[in-house]
Amino acid sequence: MKKITEILQQNNLIRTSCREEIIRAIVESPTPLSEEEVKTAISSNFDRTTFYRTFKTLIAKEVIHKIVIDNTLIKYAITEKQNLTKQHAHFYCQRCSRVFCIPEVSWEYKGLPDYYKPEQAELLIKGYCTKCN
Ligand SMILES: [Zn+2]
Ligand SMILES: [Zn+2]
Repeated sequence: MKKITEILQQNNLIRTSCREEIIRAIVESPTPLSEEEVKTAISSNFDRTTFYRTFKTLIAKEVIHKIVIDNTLIKYAITEKQNLTKQHAHFYCQRCSRVFCIPEVSWEYKGLPDYYKPEQAELLIKGYCTKCN
């Protein structure tokens, strides 16, 4: 795992305490976090605009990625952590609400008619994690 300063540098991002703290919170968590969970995990109190703008930047730079469970639950994971390729599956535990990046699972656009040009696909597997199973 790279240092947080290295991650920022590599993505041509200037070091700011908000960027560093959001990344640190997500890196240190064993599973992806929601915005609320990140807020709780960081000690400083950044104003709303800074916080949301920083999130947007980190997503745009693919430092972190979004995992949409449904319209009320979105989690964020660090992309660098497991050398995650752009396309990988996610697992959502229906009991404890934890989310996991699953780089081992990959899939293709099998059967997609030629006239569609795919750019991105999401695969969300729902079930029970090892703890809850
Ligand atoms: Zn669980
Ligand atoms: Zn992921």
